[in-house]
Amino acid sequence: MTDHLIASAREHDRADPLAKFRERFFVPDGVTYLDGNSLGCLPRKTPEAMDRAIRQEWGTGLIGSWNDAGWFEMGTRVGAKIAPLIGAAPDEVLACDSTSVNLFKLIAAALAMRPGRKVVLSEPGNFPTDLYMIEGLERQGLASRRLAARGDLEAALGDDVALLMLTHAHYKTGELFDMERLTRAAHDAGALVLWDLSHSTGALPVDLHRCNADFAVGCGYKYLCGGPGAPAFAYVARRHQAQLRQPLTGWFGHARPFAFSDDYQAAPGIEQLQCGTSPVLGLTALEVGVELIAEIGVERLYEKSRALSEFFLEALRTSGVALELVSPGDSANRGSQLSFRHRDAYAISQALIARKVIGDYREPDILRLGFAPAYLRFIDMAEAARHLCEVVQGEEWRNPEFNRRAAVT
Ligand SMILES: *Cc1c(COP(=O)(O)O)cnc(C)c1O
Repeated sequence: MTDHLIASAREHDRADPLAKFRERFFVPDGVTYLDGNSLGCLPRKTPEAMDRAIRQEWGTGLIGSWNDAGWFEMGTRVGAKIAPLIGAAPDEVLACDSTSVNLFKLIAAALAMRPGRKVVLSEPGNFPTDLYMIEGLERQGLASRRLAARGDLEAALGDDVALLMLTHAHYKTGELFDMERLTRAAHDAGALVLWDLSHSTGALPVDLHRCNADFAVGCGYKYLCGGPGAPAFAYVARRHQAQLRQPLTGWFGHARPFAFSDDYQAAPGIEQLQCGTSPVLGLTALEVGVELIAEIGVERLYEKSRALSEFFLEALRTSGVALELVSPGDSANRGSQLSFRHRDAYAISQALIARKVIGDYREPDILRLGFAPAYLRFIDMAEAARHLCEVVQGEEWRNPEFNRRAAVT
């Protein structure tokens, strides 16, 4: 690794308008964290907010905090703060449940809006939970799953398709879909569209309104830095909210939960997507992450993430290490990550972790490096590239201790 590269990284960091935001996060010393696409870093303000929610709101305020501390509206309040990050209106987004559960609710709701059609179309290799949730509805006799490769999706949009359901930025390769074009194609075929924004929200700009999307879901613990198992979010275009019928008819989605009626009546707005009592502590942490990401701004974050990944690739090229890139080579066509294929990707990821460069491994042969732009520096790119070169060129990954599998990769 040349001094020139280090000097260039330092120069980029000095000129980076987002550099000052790194100190708003807790990034452990000596760690190069390239897994913010799996679990985002802890914002410095989160422990304080959690402490207040626990000691004051819960400890002292007790049940009164549902009204006095705004607990009751938390799902809609946090949803409204996520909305501008994805090109939605504040009353179209709700923070609730997990991404998986939100997928279930919205797939079922979409199917109910297209009677006579049962097919949910997606791509093979989509994130597993997305495909499994369709399968669950298939077992109930409500859906029929159809998978078509990227290039064949439009041709697979027959008149039996109720819903096209895709992930905007692919979790493994980072490859992006053209949301506008595919949404239009689905609508032309009479189908609805559900976008999974788990790997987009907080890392790149998304404009649900411009592409006329019907539904979307996304994750709270990745680029939104909401913490492990943070609540996810769900979006329903306003034009669909009045006729929306989601299947998990819990009392928090009722028009008047505290009327304690025997019969369910759906709330008219996005609140209908709530099922049970809101996870207040999880939402407290998520709100801090969302506010911080919104303050930095997704346009600027995206610009930096592209610059970071380009810098990293250039550093690899300079070092002469040849790794097969499976992410699109043009940063305009990928999310905030780079993935490389190698037969021993698992052992390489473990050898990197031993050097405190934290990326991850995805079956069967992918080394995945995420570039969360809110807290990473160009010097991290230079360092990570250096370590990766040394691990690959020195065949350090052959060490047996790097070849033992852990439960979470
Ligand atoms: C991370 C991720 C999820 C996560 O789902 P959970 O229910 O939170 O476990 C779903 N879909 C995609 C595409 C993801 O990347």
